Amino acid sequence: MKPIVGVMPLWDEKRDSLWMLPGYLDGIRQAGGLPVMLPLTHDPDEIAQLAGLCCGFLLTGGHDVSPARYGQAPLPGLIADCPARDEMEQAVLAHALAQDKPVLGICRGIQLINVLLGGTLYQDLPRQHPSDVTHHQRPPYDVPSHTVRLVPGTPLHDLLGQDTLAVNSYHHQAIDRLADGLTAMAYAPDGLVEAVCLPSQRFLWAVQWHPEFSWRVDAASRAILARFVQAMG
Ligand code: MN
Repeated sequence: MKPIVGVMPLWDEKRDSLWMLPGYLDGIRQAGGLPVMLPLTHDPDEIAQLAGLCCGFLLTGGHDVSPARYGQAPLPGLIADCPARDEMEQAVLAHALAQDKPVLGICRGIQLINVLLGGTLYQDLPRQHPSDVTHHQRPPYDVPSHTVRLVPGTPLHDLLGQDTLAVNSYHHQAIDRLADGLTAMAYAPDGLVEAVCLPSQRFLWAVQWHPEFSWRVDAASRAILARFVQAMG
């Protein structure tokens, strides 16, 4: 039996529809897990049952986390949030932490985890943290956009056995103040945190880049997904 991985659905407000990138699901499958896209629900009993059903959770990319979640007003022109996801993922993460079930956050996922654990975000990198690093690359998304420096002694450095890693990058927000308890595992050349873990958990990792786009061609992306699924064994 493969471990069931609950995958947070993506939301398309224009179509009033849930959707999914195949790379998330196929990336989990090639790593040995059985992905299941979750419904977007706020019902505490449903979320509790789903938390019991799943062996781990993938917090996917997508909308901005609502700035109110970290005590800020949105910057002018920036209202691309999805409060329904914020609310559901807060409940899912609480169950995962309480039951010590593995969690992998990707892009929005690293930002959401940081916020839910008490950190803050840069709401818009071009305005609040301008740099020469291309964090918002154009397609194709399976090629690297910038490097990250892996921090020695962290589980990610231990896994990959290298000091730098070339990653893709498709984000306009990022971690500002790191939440208490989180450990930074990778930094972009402009100082942004690009990977974290929560050492108090069996496996809670999050990355700012997009292994769902790169796992077919990138061994490091496959290694991260495999480590996530193996943590459920
Ligand atoms: Mn980046």
